[in-house]
Amino acid sequence: MSTAQLPSYLSKENIGPWHIFLQQVEQVAPQLDRTLWPWVETLRRPKRSLIVDVPIRRDNGVVEHFEGYRVHHNTSRGPGKGGVRFHQDVTLSEVMALAGWMTIKNAVVNVPFGGAKGGVRVDPRQLSPSELEGVTRRYTSEISSMIGPNQDIPAPDMNTNAQVMAWMMDTYSMGEGRTVTGVVTGKPLSLGGSLGRPDATGRGVFVTAREAARKLDLPIEGARVAVQGFGNVGEASARIFARHGARIVAVQDVSATVYNPAGLDILALKRFQLENGTLLGAPGCEFVDSAAFWSVPCEFMVPAALESQINRHNAGEIVARVVVEGANGPTTPEADIILAERGITVVPDVLANAGGVTVSYFEWVQDFSSFFWSEDEINARLERIMSEAFGAIWSMAEERKLSLRAAAFVIGCSRVLEARAIRGLYP
Ligand code: NAD
Repeated sequence: MSTAQLPSYLSKENIGPWHIFLQQVEQVAPQLDRTLWPWVETLRRPKRSLIVDVPIRRDNGVVEHFEGYRVHHNTSRGPGKGGVRFHQDVTLSEVMALAGWMTIKNAVVNVPFGGAKGGVRVDPRQLSPSELEGVTRRYTSEISSMIGPNQDIPAPDMNTNAQVMAWMMDTYSMGEGRTVTGVVTGKPLSLGGSLGRPDATGRGVFVTAREAARKLDLPIEGARVAVQGFGNVGEASARIFARHGARIVAVQDVSATVYNPAGLDILALKRFQLENGTLLGAPGCEFVDSAAFWSVPCEFMVPAALESQINRHNAGEIVARVVVEGANGPTTPEADIILAERGITVVPDVLANAGGVTVSYFEWVQDFSSFFWSEDEINARLERIMSEAFGAIWSMAEERKLSLRAAAFVIGCSRVLEARAIRGLYP
């Protein structure tokens, strides 16, 4: 697609994550109720952003500094909520965008949270376990004025996990002089974690994919699925799709792209990855060039890695019927237009990957009440929230002739701005 065909709000230069979020808000602003228009500016400005220095002593005795961020995009509907990412390419723009998407996502599934996000610009693969603990604890200490169970509740994101959450919870608790389990979610079960949380995002991806499949008359049984990212979200999505009879034909992670048109054995692939730290060399599959991933024949494509993976360079190659966004921001606005022109349905991130924050909400509630639910209860509530949110978004998209992303943004932005308007200005 040439840039001449692009709507005016899309400029080739300004395609960084925060600008993508701004463009998405711009696109839906005219769809919002007129009474909310004066408040739209709120969404264009994060409420507060903190940049911190994270110094640690490496195992060799040398002190090294990393840059960390925590952003509260909007807290009109409740305390901030959003993950913490450790990645060598993390920037403030990326964390702002991720926080913005959390604002919309939390409103889409109607959990009583605002949007927040954090990150440290570090490659965790270059750190020993004790250095990773050092980065986590120093970062937590530096952002401690911004977090708390009633203020902002971090959770895992890329390259952070239950162990990292345990260190965050411990560091915050030491500062408070008491154990505060509710300060983070995605914790180990022994520290007030919730059953069902590890698979929650992947389960939500599957539930929304299944709902889209019902609407499009597309069977899950026998459907071909390609998954980018084989971590928390990608692996769980692939495993749950496979359990429902789908065939996972391609998986890509940072190390390799594996392909088998007859279907990959996801459990064996995970075992191999755990034992070897890579997908390279896994038995029972073909290894293909990473660019070939996008043209793999499939019905469902699940991007579950980084932002902007589906862009104007590869959107034309995708042959899937449905793209289900496990990752945050995996599709650029330009690619959205190309996919729509080609009749490919996109289940947007703010809906598709909201299963994680939904079960994080359950974890937070369980920690406050010190009363824990069964996994069946958790999965049933998750299923209900995700399928109801999908239904509302699908109906609005049909009624107003919008994409699912635009409909999700209309619902999310409206809830946030209604709360903002009714609260009014202070002082
Ligand atoms: P993770 O660290 O567990 O896994 C990330 C995966 O992406 C790994 O398999 C890694 O190898 C792969 N990857 C990294 N760079 C890649 C590249 N350039 N090409 C291909 N693969 C690459 O992270 P995660 O928690 O699964 O998060 C993945 C995405 O899902 C992120 O966008 C995150 O914001 C989003 N998300 C996560 C959660 C959650 O609960 N963890 C919830 C909602 C959304």
